[in-house]
Amino acid sequence: MYDKKRILVTGGAGFIGSHLCRRLLKAKHEVVCVDNYFTGSRSNISSLMPDPLFEAIRHDITSPLHLEVDEIYNLACPASPVHYQADPVQTTKVSVQGAINMLGLAKRHKAKILQASTSEVYGDPEMHPQPESYLGRVNPIGPRACYDEGKRCAETLFFDYHRQHQLVIKVARIFNTYGPGMRVDDGRVVSNFIVQALGGKPITIYGDGSQTRSFCYVDDLVDGLIRLMGTPDHEAGPINLGNPGEFTMLELAELVIRLTGSRSRIEFRPLPQDDPTRRRPDITRARVSLGWEPRVNLTDGLKDTIAWFRRQIDQRPVRIVEPVLAFG
Ligand code: NAD
Ligand code: UDP
Ligand code: UDP
Repeated sequence: MYDKKRILVTGGAGFIGSHLCRRLLKAKHEVVCVDNYFTGSRSNISSLMPDPLFEAIRHDITSPLHLEVDEIYNLACPASPVHYQADPVQTTKVSVQGAINMLGLAKRHKAKILQASTSEVYGDPEMHPQPESYLGRVNPIGPRACYDEGKRCAETLFFDYHRQHQLVIKVARIFNTYGPGMRVDDGRVVSNFIVQALGGKPITIYGDGSQTRSFCYVDDLVDGLIRLMGTPDHEAGPINLGNPGEFTMLELAELVIRLTGSRSRIEFRPLPQDDPTRRRPDITRARVSLGWEPRVNLTDGLKDTIAWFRRQIDQRPVRIVEPVLAFG
């Protein structure tokens, strides 16, 4: 007999959120997706709409929300630097005021609540790889601060609601995640490189391409989030979720060019301010307490992601209104 729950996913129409909603529905839970469609889209969840267990609500979580739920996955927040820097004040608001509202909701209904935090809480790290005990190096006044400090403050709120109001909380520090379902104009490195390679456009490397990131395939990440939610109540985290494989952006560009068979050239552009130099998760804690580690390596994950983007581009005639889809 499975334990059927009503689960709220904020940011459920976004990239990770829509994969998470799909997985929770597969497990026969009732899923309520709350999203204001800032970076998410209804097309991400259109295949879920016919499911009687699924419900989508257009709502901005910086305003209070009244719903009865058993669990909350708080994912609402733009994640791509291009999008979170487009309206930085709103980014801090959704991170902080959104967290307060979702914590208030969890408190009222005694719901368990998981926060999608980020490796950005480590800023540009002096410690490598990054364990959860590392306190980070974030510039509080730079262009990334709206996101980094917003997410750090959200972690503070989660732990204070835990200590002050005995809420059952789970904090996941998510490292760079990619896969099918990212927007063509998401602006993050994996989608940019693939879209550029498929369109025969120059691959834009910011800086000299020596900076590193660790890329986790979305199915692995969602598996980690669900496992974390299922841990005993006293296990709050924070816990790193990411793939420890580490690549320079130059290596990523070359891999994407090889896997797409593209003739695109590489073009170097200025490095954005405060861009972290290197990043790799220490996932010892996830291995021990979740029995979790990523299964999909970068090459296999990119193949699936490339195939998905190819299909988006092939559908160009029906989506021609979006100039960003005009390739070639
Ligand atoms: P995304 O931008 O695709 O999804 C975010 C979703 O939140 C979108 O659907 C957006 O419309 C929604 N949203 C934004 N503001 C909202 C508001 N005020 N009210 C309601 N909905 C709102 O990003 P993603 O990659 O799916 O990231 C999901 C979460 O995971 C984010 O919280 C992000 O910070 C976190 N995260 C992601 C990564 C990654 O690499 N993808 C890494 C670390 C952390
Ligand atoms: N809140 C909400 N839904 C609820 C309960 C609370 O959106 O079901 C919001 C509420 O509007 C408040 C925030 O969550 O702004 C924090 O609630 P809490 O009870 O912790 O604090 P208080 O209401 O005392 O400020
Ligand atoms: N980047 C790049 N070209 C792009 C987009 C991003 O070289 O078209 C770099 C970016 O400067 C950063 C890395 O790729 O060093 C990862 O960027 P992304 O925006 O995906 O995520 P971040 O980890 O920086 O939040």
